[in-house]
Amino acid sequence: MFTEDFAHALELYPHVLSSKKQVSALLRDMFPTQVLQVSLLSAAYDIGIVRGIQDAHDIDKSFAYRFEKRLVEECGLSFENASWAVETWCKGYGLQVLRKPCGISDEEESPQRAVQPNHVRGQVASTKMNTATVNLTASQERAVTTNSKRCVVVAGPGSGKTRVLTERIAYLIETQGVAPEKILAITFTNKAAGEMRKRIYDRLATRTTSVDVRTFHSFGLGLLRECNEYTGLSPNFEIASSSTVDRILTKTLSHHGQSIIGQKNLYRKAISNLKNGIKVASLPEIGKVFADYNRELRKEDLIDLDDMVYLPVQLLSKNEDVSNWVKSKYQHILVDEFQDVNEMQAQIFPYIIGVDTSFFFVGDDDQCIYEWRGARPKLLKRYANDNRSDTIYLEDNFRSQKGIVSISDLFIAHNSDRIPKRMNAKKHSAITGSEIKAVTSFNRFSSDFFEAAFIADEISRIIEAGKLRYDDIAILLRSNKMQGEAIRNALSNAEIPYSSTLSGDRLYDDFLTVLRTVKDFNKKGNLSKAINFPTRVMDGILYNELKEQFDLGEISSLEGLRFLANCPYDFEMASTFKARYKLLSELSPNSSSMKPSEIIAKLLEYYQSEDNVPADGISKIQKALHILEVAVEFENVSDDVPKLDLFLDYIYTALQSENNVSIEKGAVNIITCHKAKGLEFPIVFIPGVQVGIFPNDYFITTADKLEEERRLFYVSMTRAMERLYITSFDDPLKGSDRSEAIREGFIAEVPEVVQ
Ligand code: ATP
Ligand code: MG
Repeated sequence: MFTEDFAHALELYPHVLSSKKQVSALLRDMFPTQVLQVSLLSAAYDIGIVRGIQDAHDIDKSFAYRFEKRLVEECGLSFENASWAVETWCKGYGLQVLRKPCGISDEEESPQRAVQPNHVRGQVASTKMNTATVNLTASQERAVTTNSKRCVVVAGPGSGKTRVLTERIAYLIETQGVAPEKILAITFTNKAAGEMRKRIYDRLATRTTSVDVRTFHSFGLGLLRECNEYTGLSPNFEIASSSTVDRILTKTLSHHGQSIIGQKNLYRKAISNLKNGIKVASLPEIGKVFADYNRELRKEDLIDLDDMVYLPVQLLSKNEDVSNWVKSKYQHILVDEFQDVNEMQAQIFPYIIGVDTSFFFVGDDDQCIYEWRGARPKLLKRYANDNRSDTIYLEDNFRSQKGIVSISDLFIAHNSDRIPKRMNAKKHSAITGSEIKAVTSFNRFSSDFFEAAFIADEISRIIEAGKLRYDDIAILLRSNKMQGEAIRNALSNAEIPYSSTLSGDRLYDDFLTVLRTVKDFNKKGNLSKAINFPTRVMDGILYNELKEQFDLGEISSLEGLRFLANCPYDFEMASTFKARYKLLSELSPNSSSMKPSEIIAKLLEYYQSEDNVPADGISKIQKALHILEVAVEFENVSDDVPKLDLFLDYIYTALQSENNVSIEKGAVNIITCHKAKGLEFPIVFIPGVQVGIFPNDYFITTADKLEEERRLFYVSMTRAMERLYITSFDDPLKGSDRSEAIREGFIAEVPEVVQ
């Protein structure tokens, strides 16, 4: 029965086999009673497999067997079904997994990565690094092995800056005998930090290194937690969600008079700018509002996202003991993407770099894309030109085809304020044939509909050619708000899977509040959101009743829910309400001994079992499944014991760094150009390259802003390894009164593309 259904499904939808997402959906349909376990396992293996064996193409028999065994043992599937499930899942990667007889012992399983001998901490392997194995150029090797206390590597995209940084970490540990915990590596996004950790693990062939790989935000947060006795925060302080920040700001502004409440957004921006060291326009009573707002946050034992950097700077500048402690903690500090360090982040360095610390950083001034948020690319230039720095320039591009390197070089030369660089393209294409017609192309369409249809057609054509997978392809959007809808529709119509992102989605905020409530039932202020997920059960009468009895900002979830659970009124959703109360109150005391994924799985399992969950509730549960996958990923990469509070810190720092928490395997990546920084994809589409969208109207009011916009386009183009598509469309709302040159915008600056 199962096999027949499956075969039929495949006949109808053969393309699902090349999409992990759709295979998962099929599996869920097939095992409705084990939805959570199957997806949990699937997610676990998704991460595990990528981490452990580098490339899905390496999936082997032992992997398939282990997965199969767990499905049988943990999900109670029959061997036959488990076998089908695994094979289906594996085919989602476009693989032919060999069916093998069950019964192989664990010892027989082949290790996925040979453990090399020289990885015992502190053991010195050789004094000269073996560049043959790691394949570095002479300049890269010089950077990797420098003895300088301050070394800066300035180089263009794809020249191996990130690679050099990770190789240096491996070199310090393996060849110089530096203890891993004496090394701090800082980057900007959780994704980049995860990628760096992975490269270090892979390079060192061990998962036990305790190199501290952080984003600025997670480093700051860690410091606040470790030194909370200096900050007035409790050890369990939390990061306020955006709705909590909104509530606290409204409350603060209401104390300063009605007239400024209407300017909430201006104040929110001003407070954020102040915390990032950015100048703010003067607003009435901004100083007092700033102080009061922070006081209100502290009253609830909360910090906001910007505080993750702002408060550590305060802490370090006021407490020499803390600063000296950090200085002695790390012997080597390495920073990637240094061009995007902002004023507040830059203030951390003097307090953590001691006289004996070696400071190594890499960057490219042409890729600074966060000046609008206070980044200071001049800092990179200053260090590069300072004769106390060992400054190394790399000139080879290993990422992109020659055509991509030359047009992006020509394009960025339109900026005036830059360190000039030369780039030699070294890449030889691994892909030849009809699927790659030309390295770069430009196409203009009569509307965004036709632009999107072209993109979908090209993707289908590339996939049909069989050499690339969906996740080899990225569509980079200048603006998620202005673009994306037409493209998502076109991909859906063509049944092309695409990735989803975590940031900016209110749903995540709601589900994270449920998790925060489970973490601490005594916490104040989380009540109504937690009980109303995924659907509203607290009606207006009940809410008013609660309001009459308590100051809602002041009562804990425990008090409020207990009161309501014992409420004498017979309200419509009473039974669901009580069941949810029971679930939360039972989970909460055990939350510190459970893995985050277990807690999330239990919650989702319960929500799924609720009677008559309406469609919007189901879609919320489906989306929250993504958080379950992130939790499994977190547990997989985390060196720490995976606890709910650490997971919440992880996910909030991920939201702050505005990055995808994970890029889905087997799906086309639709991401904003900002989020694509540091990444690379064989195929890149940049749609909407026209004045108004890219460059964005808002950003072309001054020459400085236009230069930043140009850098963003440069970053976008240089993500492409094999082929770059630039497209635009006629927009009747724009352009009639503009000169042709302005309408063409960036396209006019890359004339080689327009053919
Ligand atoms: P970006 O500025 O975009 O962050 P980057 O300078 O950090 O780029 P990397 O991501 O480190 O560049 O490297 C780009 C690609 O080139 C990677 O796929 C990397 O593995 C490869 N690469 C780097 N150095 C070499 C080398 N010496 N030989 C072959 N490939 C290399
Ligand atoms: Mg890089």
